[in-house]
Amino acid sequence: MIIDIPENIIPLDSILPDEPLLMMGAGPVPIPPRVAAANSIVINHLGETLAQIMEQVKSMSRYVFQTQSMHILGVAGPGSAAMEMAVINLITPGDKVLSICNGFFSHRLAEMAERVEGNVRRMQVPEGTGVSLEQVEELLKQYQPSLITIVQGETSNTVCNQALPEIGKLAKKYGCLLVVDAVCTLSTMPLDMDEWGIDAVITGGQKGLSSIPGVSLVAFSETAWECIEAREEKPHHWCLDAKLADQFWYKNSYHYTAPVSGILAMHEALRLICKETLESRFIRHKVCSEALQGGVEAMGLSLFVEREARLNSVIGIYLPDGIANTELLKTMSQRHRVEISGSFGPPIFRIGQMGEQCRSHHLFRTLHALGASLSTLGSDVDIPAGMAELERRLDQYEVVASDE
Ligand SMILES: *Cc1c(COP(=O)(O)O)cnc(C)c1O
Repeated sequence: MIIDIPENIIPLDSILPDEPLLMMGAGPVPIPPRVAAANSIVINHLGETLAQIMEQVKSMSRYVFQTQSMHILGVAGPGSAAMEMAVINLITPGDKVLSICNGFFSHRLAEMAERVEGNVRRMQVPEGTGVSLEQVEELLKQYQPSLITIVQGETSNTVCNQALPEIGKLAKKYGCLLVVDAVCTLSTMPLDMDEWGIDAVITGGQKGLSSIPGVSLVAFSETAWECIEAREEKPHHWCLDAKLADQFWYKNSYHYTAPVSGILAMHEALRLICKETLESRFIRHKVCSEALQGGVEAMGLSLFVEREARLNSVIGIYLPDGIANTELLKTMSQRHRVEISGSFGPPIFRIGQMGEQCRSHHLFRTLHALGASLSTLGSDVDIPAGMAELERRLDQYEVVASDE
């Protein structure tokens, strides 16, 4: 033995705060106690118990994705692994791909498509705006792609592509597949996979669904699945091969050892969504996010994206003059134990409104922490006005705390 036992290893209890910080950034988000409890259990990855649980995960997912698809697959990996699973199974070298890019994650999809030698055309949408339908149609005519990639809600700069249903129609009209990244948005706002004609919907665990990071889902349409069945060349990534994953998810056989605890957690997250219903969940997200936006503005701050293209699931707020993100995030975390996110480029900071983040008690604590931190750092914000506006908006709607 030449490697010694490391010295000075500190137990987790001494590293973690006594009480978890309130996670109000762009993900991961707080998880309900039921999800946390499920995540602490390990069961056989091939037995009947897991088979029964997976059946329920699939049927609840069909509701959450609004699809009848029999090709919903779980992925052991981050949202990005689900993105890659969609891309690498649907693209073969030379395929023409139109990547609608209005943020960091749209470019990630484009890059993944390039890495499997898709012939990618990036459509650069001006910062802070949703994509225009006319321009998409123009490019579809001109470039004739076989696949479009798009992000429903760009967590990175808080832009929402509201025209997604119409883009689904265009994709059908021009005979191409539509791949949608809904990691941030699924279950926080409408997405009707079948009705909108989407061929692959990607989601992660730790955002809208309020589960743990590391287990994700991807849903393929019947048309997409036919393309996967028909392809001659095997995908280069064995773990992300959809046909191999199908063996596990639909044929009770072994692909790789499934992340059983994470699947149990996902089951509970989906069950809580079904219990709440999508309709109520969408209202809760809209009311909470708009109330927080109102409170932020009443405090004297400005939102980054105009109403028409603004995402509700993550709010982007301009940094006041003379304040640095590092200082703001540090003050909020250390003094108020509230975590929010900085930026991937624009001069903003971001507050998440996904899943468990949308609870009125979290909003009051977060908005107060924000105002107090900015004030400490020397910015002139009107904390009482902001808090009053938040309260006024929330009072119009009973936002109930999760009862599980
Ligand atoms: C977070 C996020 C991703 C990436 O998810 P990871 O789990 O970090 O890989 C992709 N797309 C969107 C829209 C996201 O918000």
